[in-house]
Amino acid sequence: MDRRTFNKLISTATIGMTPNLKGIAQAHPGAMPGDDGVKFATKWPEQVYRRLLIDTHIPDWDPLFLSRFDTAEYVDIIARAGFQQLMPYTNSCVGLALWKTQVGQMHANLHGRDMFGEIVAESRRRGLHTGAYFIVTRDNWAAEKHPTWRLIPPTGNTHILDNRYGQTCANTPYRDYAFACLKEIVGNYPIEGVFIDMTFWRSACYCASCTDRFRAEYNAEPPRVIDWDDPTWRKFQAARQRWMLEFAHDLTDTIKKVRPITVYHNQAVIFDSWSAGQSPAIAQACDYLGGDLYDGPAFYSLVSKTYDGLTRVHPFEYMTSRTYPGLADHVSQKSLAKLRMDAYAATLHSAALCLIDAINPVGTLNPNVYKLLGKLNEERAPYEPFLGGELQADVAIYYDQESMYDPTKNGIPVGDFVGWEGAGEKGICPHRDAIVGWAKVLRESHIPYGVVTNVNLEQLKNYRAVIVPNVLEMTAEQARQFTQFVKDGGVLIASGPSSLDRFDHNGPRFLLEDVLGVRYLGTMGTKVTYLTPKDAQIVKVVWPQDHVNYNGPMIKAEAASGAEVLATVTLPWVAPELGHSIGSHFAAIHSNPPALMPGTTPGLVINTYGKGKAVWLAGPIETGHAEVNPVLLVHLIKRTLPGPYKFEVETHPSVEMTLFDQPEKKRLLVGLLSMQEQLPAIPVGATVRVQPPAGRTVSGVYQLPERKAVKFETAGAYEQFRLEPFDMFSMLLVEYE
Ligand SMILES: [Zn+2]
Repeated sequence: MDRRTFNKLISTATIGMTPNLKGIAQAHPGAMPGDDGVKFATKWPEQVYRRLLIDTHIPDWDPLFLSRFDTAEYVDIIARAGFQQLMPYTNSCVGLALWKTQVGQMHANLHGRDMFGEIVAESRRRGLHTGAYFIVTRDNWAAEKHPTWRLIPPTGNTHILDNRYGQTCANTPYRDYAFACLKEIVGNYPIEGVFIDMTFWRSACYCASCTDRFRAEYNAEPPRVIDWDDPTWRKFQAARQRWMLEFAHDLTDTIKKVRPITVYHNQAVIFDSWSAGQSPAIAQACDYLGGDLYDGPAFYSLVSKTYDGLTRVHPFEYMTSRTYPGLADHVSQKSLAKLRMDAYAATLHSAALCLIDAINPVGTLNPNVYKLLGKLNEERAPYEPFLGGELQADVAIYYDQESMYDPTKNGIPVGDFVGWEGAGEKGICPHRDAIVGWAKVLRESHIPYGVVTNVNLEQLKNYRAVIVPNVLEMTAEQARQFTQFVKDGGVLIASGPSSLDRFDHNGPRFLLEDVLGVRYLGTMGTKVTYLTPKDAQIVKVVWPQDHVNYNGPMIKAEAASGAEVLATVTLPWVAPELGHSIGSHFAAIHSNPPALMPGTTPGLVINTYGKGKAVWLAGPIETGHAEVNPVLLVHLIKRTLPGPYKFEVETHPSVEMTLFDQPEKKRLLVGLLSMQEQLPAIPVGATVRVQPPAGRTVSGVYQLPERKAVKFETAGAYEQFRLEPFDMFSMLLVEYE
């Protein structure tokens, strides 16, 4: 790239960093030349919960591809299935345009026909809202025709012949091509929104554009070895995030400048490792959050809490495939029971569900599939008028995207971790393991929880407790916010190295040292360590065990005076890595039993700070799978966070309950979803207790969607009602005055 192009890129990018997004939620569809005067039954996007995306990643080398596409038949199948919105493809990973373009390369088999435009017009005629699917960076046509636009992974560009996906880089002039395409699409078609896919990195990029830009910004070469203690590596990762965020803002601004329609970027990678380089701050470039997820309802539940906290407009959306297990299978249909569980995970969180199907290569759909999807839509639709509100929760899990790396990977060449096309996308992230562990504990023990992130930490004020699980990075400002939270009466539960500042010039220390009541000394143990109870209540909680196992090292610390040490760290009799057959050097051949005498360094500490309390665990035992771990963790919450909670429920652990407050309608929305692994689910009942908002009295409880009155009674601070066993999903309104 020449200097002029580079400077132009930098200057356009700077404009993109301060977008004026005020009022974008009021985007009004149809306000463009050629307005077809279509009126919809529902308001986009607020009332649209049944959405559909049909993957159309079809090339044109075989004349049969897309040759049997029939617009009327295609839209008819979809409309009859009860969808409210369709997102037709404008382009695809293949890189060929399906809209009538003067910018890109049209799909040859369309012979000039405007497939996208026809679908939009016919969908609108049938009462379907339309958004455009537009994919960036992953573009076979662009990568093939424009070698200088290619993403260059650390391993070099040797993948081209053994990989299906051509990658381009957002720092190259490819970005101008993407902007030009979007201007044309948004300017020429009456779509109401755009979904931008792949606004994240598939690999670290070392193309000429990225290299030039890094040199210009930091006067250094882009590093090729992962080292989280190396300032240049840390700058490189920060730059990757910033560059992608800037690209996302520029894409959004490009669209909004043409017409103020809704825009969102795929945030499926929200819990991916550092390599995706997508900051949760991308939420600021989105009207609402959304992403495609394939990991089952428990993971959807965690992501939903995260999206709910970040989204600016409701409903947020999650997408999942109609095929099992995901998009790599073209034919295997999820059963209605499985589809229901996936779909009701969205309803449980007042979210929109976007189902993903894939077009047959010739351009047809399987009509029988849509009969099945139609049943699902028909069943879910009656709940929609009741959805929405503010998620009610007592406990927040803190998610820090900056901590999504594996600190044991220092010194490894980038290419060994991030190869091509998603290698290492999930990676090992101890912070994520801890979040997922806590989410499972809270969900299964029915403790009302939400998620706050490093970009919306101010939302802590909505909670009474926060869990800071195995957090590897923390800024002084974030530490200040956590400190204030506890000082004001909040409960903070931290595990492992959370809040450790390893760059302090006086040596590593916890930024939350005073709050936690422990001073960092280092680490202890290797593959196996133990927590040994000291406190009488903890002895009872873990009974009949006398130790709690953790598969990893723990943090070595000393307790401050006044801090209460409830358990200590005990090391194995023989360090696991020293065990060998010569001389049988171990304490037991299969396992690593604890030393005879319990250790003395603190492993579990409770500290009072200001009006609040902090709990510190020397190791993130929330990542362990032993049955005692959740029992101990729930005890720690209940011990430090007195009730009443937003709700309580007595039911099977597979059932998740959510509660939303709709103050303007003076009602609470209660949802229960049974997430049993083996389907069909066995019906289970529940006794539900909800806490009405302060100063309000409950006037009625109604089973939805038919609004059948349910008997209720006062039980302490709660109103209590019982539910007969239900198959999978149950939703109720609690009205108050
Ligand atoms: Zn690049």
